[in-house]
Parts: sequence; C-alpha cells; structure tokens
Amino acid sequence: MERLRIPNLATYLPIAPSDLLLTAPIAARVLFGATPAGRVVQAAAFGVYAGSAAIDWAARADAKRVDFEATFGIDPLSPPDASEEDRREDIARLVETLDAGYQPMRIPRKELAEEVDRHLTEFLAELTGQRLETSAQVRQFMLAQMIFPFALGAADPLTGDVAIFKSVGVFEPHVIAHEFCHRKGYLKEVEAQVLAYLALAGSGDPVLEQSAYCERLDRQLWVLADRDTAKYNELLSETGLREELRSGFEFRHPTEQTYARLVGPFMKGAYDARMKLTGQNGLSDYDEGFTNFLLAIERET
Ligand SMILES: [Zn+2]
Repeated sequence: MERLRIPNLATYLPIAPSDLLLTAPIAARVLFGATPAGRVVQAAAFGVYAGSAAIDWAARADAKRVDFEATFGIDPLSPPDASEEDRREDIARLVETLDAGYQPMRIPRKELAEEVDRHLTEFLAELTGQRLETSAQVRQFMLAQMIFPFALGAADPLTGDVAIFKSVGVFEPHVIAHEFCHRKGYLKEVEAQVLAYLALAGSGDPVLEQSAYCERLDRQLWVLADRDTAKYNELLSETGLREELRSGFEFRHPTEQTYARLVGPFMKGAYDARMKLTGQNGLSDYDEGFTNFLLAIERET
C-alpha cells in the first residue's frame, strides 16, 4: 500500500513551538530588554514554528483524504436530524453494551497514544488506500489550555502539535484519536469526531471500543439535556450505567469553577463563531452533528 510520512517535527520538541512563539516577545524583553539579542530570540522562535509547519505542509500535498459523501453517502456537516426517540434508543443500547463489557483503563498515555494512532492510521488507509503516517506524541501542556479552559485537548493545525490537558479516564482514547485526526489533516470538528469514533469502535480492542461508546453516550445525553449540566446529570443517573463508568462522566460537564466560569462562556462564544467562519455549524458539530451522522449511516446499512 502507498505510504506517506508527515514529519510533525514540532511534536518532538520539549516545548510546543506555538507556545514559544506566543511567549518569545515577553521572554526576550525580560531577558534581554530592547537589544538585538531579544530580536534574535523572537526570530528563532518564529523560525522553529514556521519551519516545522512548512515541512509538514509540503509533505501533506500528497495526502489522500476520506471522501465522506462517497464513502458514507452523507455529508457530516448536514446529516439528517435524529428524533428524541432515536437518541433514547441509542442511549439504552450503548448503556447495555458498556455495562456488559466494562474495561478498566490501565494503559499509560504514551502506549495508548501509539495504539490509537495505529488503529486510526489503519482505518484511514482502508478508506483512502494510503497509509498516512504521523507522530504519536502527545503533550501534557499547551498555552491553549489557559485560553480554552473548557477544552480537554487541543491541536495546532499548522504544526500538528497535540496536547491533552486533563486525565480524562475512559474518554482518553477518543480524545487522543480526535486530536490525531486533526494532526492527519481533518480540521473540521465533526470530521475528527466521526473518524475517531469509527476507527475506535471498529478496532477490535475492547478498551478503545469502550471509549468510543462512552463518547457517543456522553454526546447523546448532552444533546438530550439541552446542554444543561443539572439535566445531564439527572439523565445520566437514570441510565443505569455502572458506577465505574458513570463516575468517569462527571467531569465532562462540571459546574464550572471561578476562572472557567468567567472565561468559559466568552471563549465558547468566540470558538463557536470561529467554527462558523471556517464553514462548520458551530459547537453543535461535537455532539448533535456527530450523533446525527452516526445514526444516519447506521440507518443506511
Ligand atoms: Zn477538535
């Protein structure tokens, strides 16, 4: 099979080049004042960031993409609506499957990321006929975390850098797979949601399958709860989902702490607007669009 390697050099550096770029002007001023050395530091930070991005961009020119409409018969940006009954049935099915096959999460993040990357690469290769190989590195920190306190992870579309901010328990394989989809060039959120889900749900690995089903269950409940935390928790407790798994859902929609409560709504609005500017439907692509698409392609088959 045809093979293409994207170097993702930025992902192997100890600090994210995007963070270097953001902090270089302050660091240079503190360390060197208004001297030429300060300008050299800033130029070097820019060079590392832009250089890594340019190398990936050139390599990516030959990458093959999944054609969603040809493959699934449905555009993930405009799937047919699911009814409330569809959602409730889906929730019942997911809870039954999850309760019966519970898997404790024991794999360290580094190994998990390599496992997720392997399945995602294979899944995409089946659809495109090309093995698109990318880095399996995951950071613990990027400055984006301060800007988007509600996010679980982030990806820098230019360098392919990925960070997972929190320990996300059973959701971790899906969060990693979602960010790795961005790394492989699927920048739209609903595309990353759908490809991550399908790659994990069809992986044959019970830990990865569980994560995909948990993501789908969480998103279904969130839509059904009209994105209201109290209602979500009520619906969650009514599902009968076993305790080991249910406790892992509580952090997904927390009653927000001071900083996140102040910054969260504003940045969510800004993020929603940015998504719309890039041809997406907005934050609903993560949950409503994602679950509508899955239900629709399953109806087709
Ligand atoms: Zn994303």
